[in-house]
Amino acid sequence: MGVAKYAHLYRLLRNERRPLEELRELQLRRLQRLVAHAYQEVPYYRRSWERLGFHPGDLRSLDDLQKLPVIDKAAFQQHPEELLAGSFRGQPLTAVRTSGSSGKPLRFWVSPPCNQFRDAQFLRPYLSNGRRLLDKGVWFKVNPLPPPKWFQRIGMLREQTIYPGVDLREQAAAFRRLAPDVLMGHASSAARLASHLQEEGAPFKRPRMVFTDSELLTPQMRRSIREAFGCEPLDVYGTYETENIAYECDHHQGYHIALDAVIMEFIRDGRPAGPGEEGEIVCTVLTNFTMPFIRYNLHDLGSYRTGPCTCGRTFPLMKMIGGRADDYLIHPEGGRKSPWDLWGHLLPLAEYLHEYQVVQQEIHLFQVQVVPSRQFHEGIKQAVADKIRLVFPAARVEVLVTDRIDREPSGKFRAFKTLVRIEEASASRKAGISLPPAPAQGIGVPDREIQGQGLGPEAARPFFQPSGT
Ligand SMILES: [Zn+2]
Repeated sequence: MGVAKYAHLYRLLRNERRPLEELRELQLRRLQRLVAHAYQEVPYYRRSWERLGFHPGDLRSLDDLQKLPVIDKAAFQQHPEELLAGSFRGQPLTAVRTSGSSGKPLRFWVSPPCNQFRDAQFLRPYLSNGRRLLDKGVWFKVNPLPPPKWFQRIGMLREQTIYPGVDLREQAAAFRRLAPDVLMGHASSAARLASHLQEEGAPFKRPRMVFTDSELLTPQMRRSIREAFGCEPLDVYGTYETENIAYECDHHQGYHIALDAVIMEFIRDGRPAGPGEEGEIVCTVLTNFTMPFIRYNLHDLGSYRTGPCTCGRTFPLMKMIGGRADDYLIHPEGGRKSPWDLWGHLLPLAEYLHEYQVVQQEIHLFQVQVVPSRQFHEGIKQAVADKIRLVFPAARVEVLVTDRIDREPSGKFRAFKTLVRIEEASASRKAGISLPPAPAQGIGVPDREIQGQGLGPEAARPFFQPSGT
């Protein structure tokens, strides 16, 4: 490892500002090579495309990609052997395991060259946004970091961790001692520490930058981080399958899409969503030839933003809509409900709550755990319940005060979760259960933010040499 990764990184950082036409050409070349390879070597794709009468020669433009079927995690869970390219069989490969925060872990393999490209892709959002080689970085991490690399032993890209599972006073002490220049990791961990430090009131060295990943970065978390650390968090969107594929810059106009690594589509009811229209994020990973992800539905929601960012990067912008697939709640009238409206309604209560988690236990039953701040008083419980009922009018709401909200086994925090299956909503509708009218939606809250299943540095940095960068 090593040299190839940094050569990739150099090119990746340069690509961010290349003319858009050049980037589209690069995408098309890579896509044609990937599709020809998959047709030749990956039985699953060959079989499915032959049924449609598709031949790689039919792929003449980026739009032709839409002739291919959309797949998702299920294909990789059911046919892993058939998705591995023939020439990689018996070769040394790295396994990548997803965290399975949605309850369905996935394992896939990548070759060493693909792994090196992924490493570079992982680092780009941080270095692009101004993390310097001599900065001291601190991650919120559940797992220990791998042993330091040679460059870390001489002080470059130094990294340490704060374990978010320990008491906040202990985390605050570690934070003061480590005094990071750059703080990184789960949004909720950074926000929780931020509120705690504010409340303690003792001085601490502010980090120059805060990067968040892996979780919904709610407006409330953004605010806590901004107030304590004096900087706006920069959110990074990635998944294990795709690595980091979109990231904010300090102009905060959206997330820059990594055009050199993926083709990202937004699909709504089987067709491409228009600009600004919400769609499911479907990715084709351009540099993984080991187990190719072609039109892979991440089931997260986003939309294209039109117009370039004022920062000068040519990578186009996307807007994250309202959460990952598993952050959605189920609406009694059917369908998934983004937690966006709830965030907006709960935002005015931010000063009373360090943290909250809304769990939809049954279609009309919500349990809300809250970690109170100093300003909290009993009346806030009722206020929380009232806010939930603005979006779910028939809801019974139970508010529990606690000093700590459990994380998922993966270490992730979920501000919203549902235990209801979507079919139950349809069933209650069919049974003719009458519901009050839907509430007025939408209040004046700035930008919607979300996050996908992000990657920590300890994630297996599992790697294809893309040519023609
Ligand atoms: Zn920008």
